[in-house]
Amino acid sequence: MIDETHDAKRKSWVASADGHSEFPLQNLPLGVFSPPGATAPDAGARGGVAIGDSIFDLRAALDAGLFSGDAQAAAVAAAGPTLNPLMARGATLRRALRRRVFDLLAEDGSDAARVRPLASRLVHPAAACTLHLPAAVGNFTDFFAGIHHATNGGRRRDPNNPLNPNYKYVPVAYHSRASSVRPSGVPVRRPHGQRKLPDEAAPSYGACRKLDYELELAVWIGPGNAQGEPIPIAEAGSRVFGLGLVNDWSARDIQQWESAPLGPFLGKSFGSTVSPWIVTAEALEPFRVAQPPRPAGDPRPLPYLWDDADQQNGAYDIALEAFILTASMRDKGQPPHRVSHSNTTDLYWTLAQLVAHHTSGGCNLVPGDLFGTGTISGPTPEGWGSLSEQSADGTRTLTLHSGETRTFLADGDEAIFRAHCRRDGFAAIGFGECRARIV
Ligand code: MN
Repeated sequence: MIDETHDAKRKSWVASADGHSEFPLQNLPLGVFSPPGATAPDAGARGGVAIGDSIFDLRAALDAGLFSGDAQAAAVAAAGPTLNPLMARGATLRRALRRRVFDLLAEDGSDAARVRPLASRLVHPAAACTLHLPAAVGNFTDFFAGIHHATNGGRRRDPNNPLNPNYKYVPVAYHSRASSVRPSGVPVRRPHGQRKLPDEAAPSYGACRKLDYELELAVWIGPGNAQGEPIPIAEAGSRVFGLGLVNDWSARDIQQWESAPLGPFLGKSFGSTVSPWIVTAEALEPFRVAQPPRPAGDPRPLPYLWDDADQQNGAYDIALEAFILTASMRDKGQPPHRVSHSNTTDLYWTLAQLVAHHTSGGCNLVPGDLFGTGTISGPTPEGWGSLSEQSADGTRTLTLHSGETRTFLADGDEAIFRAHCRRDGFAAIGFGECRARIV
């Protein structure tokens, strides 16, 4: 549903928002932050909205009496230290909040004369705030829906049959670890673990020697379902609260040794990084596209995963980029090296299919559950969204613009993900960064 909040001609009185590469007035992503001067890093955590280089403070706006009706109910649900209470509500409240915040922040908003004198209370410089996880993550499921990534990984095992026979029928996933999800900026410790390279006679315990990132879309779940009551595919898309970015850090040597037959465990559970801002389903409306048709010969999804409207409008056109910033680049003030760029249209399954499949056996989703889509790689090398693909599992060296080389991540390296949506006639929006340094 396109409405006035998507009008590219509207401007905000927050000067930095006009033409901002991530957070113009038409985006309004939701997150949780502590304002400047908080007594502890997590003191006063509350919901906010990114606008240009600033954060609009939902609690301050509530205190100023700027909301009523559904928008007020939504702002109350979003003003605490997690967004889970808002996630539990449906799109109606979320949309009311978006429309009111848009009106409050618009240069020509209906209450501009009342709002602008309050600017110093309502809007904080983002650089002076601390950003937190946007939600208490109850469960984290990581899918495998990027078919080029799945193919690249499988090809190393079996060049002739890279995909398992189930891949085109089942949206494959593993249950990952919610307790170790951290917001962008929190360093990640190189894990230790049991690993055995193919040419080693016996396993040993030690620091990971093949530390990798995975470029993925983060899917934040809104209203869930009762246990035993699957969400039908036609309703499944509406359970997506919004999207972000997630780095599913992967210790390949630990993962390769431990994963048969039950899948990843300690090779993945040491940490995952998410971008702190959730770009809402409403902000993404202009960037919905048809799911690309399956290649000729691929099976049609089973009926519980098929919905015509979802196929026509259930995919997203989101451009993704992965960068590495080494310690040397940081010291010299150099920009990061872009390793790959891909697009969410490279996903084999729609988000609604992931939701429908996840619940199809009776599993209950809860508000604030997090999905990773799986690594989103493009079809060609410049689109490969993990270093295991870029380096062919460490057998091929990647040369960075600084002249440094990598197969996997070195200590001090930062992995940085960015995402943007662009479409003629609409304001471009971004996701903000998902980044963390290996220590
Ligand atoms: Mn993954």
